[in-house]
Amino acid sequence: MAEAGRPPGLAVVLVGSDPASQIYVRNKVKACQTLGLHSVEVTPPPGITTEELLGLVGKLNHDPAVDGILVQMPLPKHVDSRRILEAISPEKDADGFHPISVGRLVANLPGPRACTPAGVMEMLRRHEIAVAGKHAVVIGRSDIVGKPMSLLLLHAHATVTICHSKTPDLAETCSRADILVAAIGRPAFVRRDFIKPGATVIDVGINRLTDRSEVAGVWAGAEDLTARLEDFDRKHNALVGDVHPLEVEAASAFTPVPGGVGPLTIAMLMSNTVSLAERRLNLA
Ligand code: NAP
Repeated sequence: MAEAGRPPGLAVVLVGSDPASQIYVRNKVKACQTLGLHSVEVTPPPGITTEELLGLVGKLNHDPAVDGILVQMPLPKHVDSRRILEAISPEKDADGFHPISVGRLVANLPGPRACTPAGVMEMLRRHEIAVAGKHAVVIGRSDIVGKPMSLLLLHAHATVTICHSKTPDLAETCSRADILVAAIGRPAFVRRDFIKPGATVIDVGINRLTDRSEVAGVWAGAEDLTARLEDFDRKHNALVGDVHPLEVEAASAFTPVPGGVGPLTIAMLMSNTVSLAERRLNLA
C-alpha cells in the first residue's frame, strides 16, 4: 500500500450502547491501530432513523479515505438493517454481507468474504487440515456464519451437510463429520456423542453466561473450576462456546472459546479492508 501514499481505511458504525457490540468495535478499531490502518469510528445517537443512517452510509461511500465500511449489528429495532447493509457500496463491503458479495461467494468469484467463515478457512489452511474430500457438517444456517461457512467449505471441495434447528438426529449426523463447525449460539450444546474420533471441531459460538450455577454446571469436575468461579465472581460473566469444553477429547483439533475463531474474525476484517483498498487503487 506504500504506492498509494496513504493507509487503507476502515469506517466502523456503531449505533447504541450494546456492551458486546461496544467490545467488538473497540477490538476492531484497536486492530486497525496496531496494523497502521486508518480507522473512523462513527457513533450516531440510538434514535437515528433509517433515512439518517442511509445518509451517513452514503457519505462514507463517497469518502476517499475510507476503503471499507462496517455497520455493527444488531441495529436498533426501528432501523431497517437490510436497507442499511444494501446501501453500503459493494466496493467498500468490509463484512461481505452485501447481496453482491454474497452472489460472488456463491459463484466462487473474488470478493470480500464474511469474516468469521473466512477466518475458519484460514485456520484450516494454516494448520494444514485437509478439506478436499472430507465430510464437513455445519450446524447453523445464518447469513453471517452458517451459510457462507458451508459455501467456503464446498468451494474447498468438502462434502457439506448443513444442519439447523429442524434437523432430525443432529448428534448422529454430526458424529459422521470429519470437520464439525458449530455456529448455533447455545452454550456447550455440542456434546461428546456429536464428535467423531479424530474430527476437527471448530467452535464459532460465543455465549456469555451470567448465571454462576450455569458456569459451575459446564465446568463441573474441571481442575480449574475454582479459578473459573473466582473469575466469574470478579467479572459477573463467563464465555463459553457452542461446544462443551470438557467433551472434545475425541477431536484431533479443536478451537477454544475465547481465543479461537474470534481473533481470526478481526484478522479477516483487516484483510478484507486491505484487499478492498488495493482493488480501489488498482493495486491488486
Ligand atoms: P443465529 O443467526 O442465531 O443462527 C443460529 C443457527 O443455529 C440457526 O441457523 C439455527 O437454526 C441454529 N440452531 C439454533 N438452535 C439449534 C438447535 N437446537 N439445533 C440445531 N441448530 C440450531 O446465530 P449466528 O449469528 O450464526 O451466530 C452463531 C454463534 O456464533 C453465536 O454464538 C454467535 O455469538 C457466534 N458468532 C461468533 C463470531 C466470532 O467472531 N467468533 C462471529 C459471529 C457469530 P434455524 O435457522 O433453524 O433457526
